[in-house]
Amino acid sequence: MTEANAYSLLFEPVQIGPVTARNRFFQVPHCNGMGHVRPQGEAAMRGMKAAGGWSVVSTQETEIHPTSDLSPFAENRLWDDRDIPALRLMTDAVHDKGALAAIQLVHNGNHAQNLTSRAPVLAPSDMSLDHPFPKQARAMDKADIRELRRWHRNAAIRAREAGFDIVYVYAGHSMTVAQHFMLPHMNHRSDEYGGSLENRVRLTRELLEDTREAVGDTCGVAFRFAVDEMLGSDGMQAAEEGRAIVEMLAELPDLWDVNVCEWANDSATTRFQPQDGYQNDYISFVKSLTSKPVVGVGRLTSPDMMLSMVTKGIVDFIGAARPSIADPFLPRKIEEGRIDEIRECIGCNICVMADSVGAPIRCTQNPTMGEEWRRGWHPEQIAPKERETEALVVGGGPAGLECAMQLARRGYEVTLAEAADVLGGRVLRESRLPGLGAWARVKDYRLNDLTQRANVNIYANSRLDAEQVLELGIPNAFIATGARWRADGVGRNTLRKPPTISGAVNVLTPDDIMDGTLPPDGPVVVYDDDHAYIAGVIAEKLALAGHDVVFVTPESTVSSFAALTLEQRRIQARLIELGVEIRCNQVLRSLDGQAMQIACSYSDRLQSIACTSAVLVTERTRETALFEALQGKGLTTLELIGDASGPALIADAVFAGHKAARDFERPAEAVEQDWFRREITDLKNEVL
Ligand code: ADP
Ligand code: SF4
Repeated sequence: MTEANAYSLLFEPVQIGPVTARNRFFQVPHCNGMGHVRPQGEAAMRGMKAAGGWSVVSTQETEIHPTSDLSPFAENRLWDDRDIPALRLMTDAVHDKGALAAIQLVHNGNHAQNLTSRAPVLAPSDMSLDHPFPKQARAMDKADIRELRRWHRNAAIRAREAGFDIVYVYAGHSMTVAQHFMLPHMNHRSDEYGGSLENRVRLTRELLEDTREAVGDTCGVAFRFAVDEMLGSDGMQAAEEGRAIVEMLAELPDLWDVNVCEWANDSATTRFQPQDGYQNDYISFVKSLTSKPVVGVGRLTSPDMMLSMVTKGIVDFIGAARPSIADPFLPRKIEEGRIDEIRECIGCNICVMADSVGAPIRCTQNPTMGEEWRRGWHPEQIAPKERETEALVVGGGPAGLECAMQLARRGYEVTLAEAADVLGGRVLRESRLPGLGAWARVKDYRLNDLTQRANVNIYANSRLDAEQVLELGIPNAFIATGARWRADGVGRNTLRKPPTISGAVNVLTPDDIMDGTLPPDGPVVVYDDDHAYIAGVIAEKLALAGHDVVFVTPESTVSSFAALTLEQRRIQARLIELGVEIRCNQVLRSLDGQAMQIACSYSDRLQSIACTSAVLVTERTRETALFEALQGKGLTTLELIGDASGPALIADAVFAGHKAARDFERPAEAVEQDWFRREITDLKNEVL
């Protein structure tokens, strides 16, 4: 049996009401920061998933009315007929590649702020918004409920007109009014929509019936339902009301799309949920209660796990958001037996981060994500070389590995040199920190590709200086030498008053910790002016190693950036559990004697923390010496890329390596003029 045959069960067609999916790979709804603001970008991205073999490709949340206005976030929008053409771009792109298009209709209740529409916010009962915003939602009266049903029904009809094959009713992620009605802590009504479970489910039942009546003859009706709030007895549980709701509505939808909420639990990162298929224990009961197909998620990238989930009767469809972002061609690769070519999601949630700031989606593993339309990038294809020439890539971190791999795919002779004895740069080093093991997939995927290519020579243990580079006689050099954490405490909050470092405190950087140096016995202060994951993870490592750790940050929460990757609460909770003392709103002033002096960010009041060691996590210094030494030395191409050019996320380093390889030998004017296509509002258009 070939590998492809072994997974043939995953390629059986499945009926969803009146429509048929060609296989079991289902791209469930996922946000992407493009939506109604960048509809051509969204259409091309979804079309790429269809080309990659997904049988169903879904939108993200699609607002059905101005009372569910999610701005400033760039979700989809179907308020009225004028929104149909933008969505039709997507259904055309998806149909063109033989897949079904699904739309996730939503009314967000008190999760919407209605900042653009300035409409009143609606909820089952009077309550605050789901955001720290001084505005309240009002309890919906019967007229509001009738209106909501009408909006949803009209949106379903418009969705069909836009070409969608599957229309969702959505009660999940703690983000939708249908779910809010189900939850006793949000629904305090005493009418037929409140009280008993039957009453709390009434609105959802009506929305499902309305949708079926409106479009069910031609479109599948899907129901996305969070079976468990992951709050134990403080919330809905899969074994109790979650199960009862599935029993009550079992045959109403044509498809059950089930998961856990809230979003941080559904899209758990590998740091806090290393296991793929982590939702199986919660959703596995659903299939026993319905004859309709079931789709489930859980960062599913392993074909063996997928197969076992179908074989065991947990799901009919393999649902994926992040695995389809990291590898839009995942189904095709399984179908063609190219399992080792799968670009596995690392569970870092940088994709989520982009949506959370209203920016177009990006992915650490897949640098082409979100670039399908605006840059014309394809995740599996790249233009062949223009002519015979050689390229040297110095540095085997994420930027160097990606650059070398793409240059090799283009057909150039590529030499990759790395100073360390193992390739991987920062992803290898960071992957040694607690919970970050999956980061290593960034190097594994690329090294697996590079080591199979005849046109690539890889040299580890090869720290090159300018003379050695020139001796190689390779005319084109890409310098991806990375960056090192600085040890002087200078960072975002200490630019005006650089700290004084003197005295007996042992100063370490994240690089020291990643290289295996641990502080001597005694209290350690971790000072974080970076605000991403590194300082938190180092504090965790040191606490696990038995150190007394004090975490100091100028921000008012630990690892504040991690709120955008849905991890901040977990990081802070973990440090608290490990006994780490947390001091927020404090800026580093000095290290002297055997103490760190800190000042309150607001009052400037000074405090002193006795410590024997301090780990300073502030900024990184770019490694540019080689690049500078090579300037003016006659190389045809000399380009500085990745963290050496601008320290940032791993995703940015991979992107920089990819872009450099794509742009290589493109005319300079084209590269300069053609940053990317933009979706500019044509002001000559009639006002719609
Ligand atoms: P990026 O994220 O931009 O890829 P990294 O810091 O992860 O940057 O990787 C840079 C890599 O470059 C490191 O592994 C480092 O050992 C390597 N390196 C730095 N200077 C040289 C050099 N002169 N010759 C070869 N390798 C180098
Ligand atoms: Fe996975 Fe990270 Fe890519 Fe998101 S950004 S799809 S979590 S690898």
